[in-house]
Amino acid sequence: MTDRYAVFGHPIHHSKSPFIHSAFAQQTGQDLTYTAIDAPAETFTTAVRTFFAEGGKGANVTVPHKEAALALADDATPRAQEAGAANTLLFTADGAIYADNTDGVGLIRDLTNRWGLSLEGKRILLLGAGGAAKGILAPLIAARPRAITVANRTAARAEALTTAFAPLAVRFDVTLTTLPWAQLVHREATPPFDLVLNATSASLAGSTPPLSRALWAPDAVAYDLMYGATPTPFLMAAQQQGAARLIDGLGMLVEQAAESFWLWRGVRPETEPVFQALRTQLAASTA
Ligand code: NDP
Repeated sequence: MTDRYAVFGHPIHHSKSPFIHSAFAQQTGQDLTYTAIDAPAETFTTAVRTFFAEGGKGANVTVPHKEAALALADDATPRAQEAGAANTLLFTADGAIYADNTDGVGLIRDLTNRWGLSLEGKRILLLGAGGAAKGILAPLIAARPRAITVANRTAARAEALTTAFAPLAVRFDVTLTTLPWAQLVHREATPPFDLVLNATSASLAGSTPPLSRALWAPDAVAYDLMYGATPTPFLMAAQQQGAARLIDGLGMLVEQAAESFWLWRGVRPETEPVFQALRTQLAASTA
């Protein structure tokens, strides 16, 4: 029998997840369907429960429901609990809903496997302290960089994030600090970073985080969790300021999906062909 999966979000019509999971299914010979379901906040929990009651096997969850997804689950992986949010739900044989968060591992696999970057001993600047930042911080710490500095427009959220992850940072011997948002543009206040990760949604508002040339170490990598057909505003600003390498979040998207697929099906798909197909699709959308 064909198994049913879906992604829940609001809005959801731009989601690439149905394409990605259909490609994974075809590649691995898995018999499944994967659809996008638009669910505003008021109906999200009911929509997920109905989907599972009607035979759905698993689901992805995207903005703005990742925290609500964790809340509705009966049990969750440690990494979802650490993140305080879930992007993957699994309906177990005994009728329980199990939550996971694959965003962090998706980012790390993209950085290390696809782009060949090692994070060990590196100085990382993390811009943003929302759901995505929360989801990637634990795996970033576990990759043993020398230091992670968190800067967020709303300082209190950056402070809360570093306080919550302080014990983990101590365990992995990582210096975890915050930097006031306004100081990002002050040359003398900023040490250079090897990797600057943009986990804000500033681009959606047509803006970029404030940046200065002094932020970037000579071989610095700029990584934007957002992706698009053309370089994001953050990546364009990073290039102008001297970042040596620019990477967007398309690979992370494919890798987090592969981890969900593995959780549901016990099969690990090859991500590179799907990544390349999406890149081509995006490029064609602007032609
Ligand atoms: P949230 O809404 O949880 O957090 C948004 C973050 O962006 C907050 O830190 C917020 O700061 C900041 N922000 C929003 N607007 C601005 C602005 N105009 N200037 C500066 N900072 C701003 O979103 P998520 O954390 O879930 O997502 C963040 C980004 O990551 C999104 O673009 C999303 O698409 C992307 N993402 C990509 C994934 C992938 O697989 N490639 C996976 C997950 C997310 P404040 O606290 O001050 O409001």
